[in-house]
Amino acid sequence: MNALIFIEGRLVGEMQLGVVQIHGQLFPPEGRAYFCPDCGDIWARIVVQDRPSRAVTIPCRRHHKHPYWPGGSIWLSWERELMAALPPQVLAREAKRHAEIYDELGGVL
Ligand SMILES: [Zn+2]
Repeated sequence: MNALIFIEGRLVGEMQLGVVQIHGQLFPPEGRAYFCPDCGDIWARIVVQDRPSRAVTIPCRRHHKHPYWPGGSIWLSWERELMAALPPQVLAREAKRHAEIYDELGGVL
């Protein structure tokens, strides 16, 4: 199924998602809605047409505070298949965002 990726109000890419195996059963893919716990914004979304979205609590860029909870990043390390499907331009954006966070910390993690 086709999925659209929106970050900070802009369409940044699209990708194809297959069925997902959960506890031995196959399910159609679902979207993700990235919720900022500080301001309440849904600042990014992965939209799968005609499918519901799961909320993911990750701070927006403005409310980034902790290097291990990177605000403004859509990377979900526990969602291997979903992250593997991200298109190159979104992966490049992720690399840039993580480099910004690293620089904000003065190059120290
Ligand atoms: Zn926020």
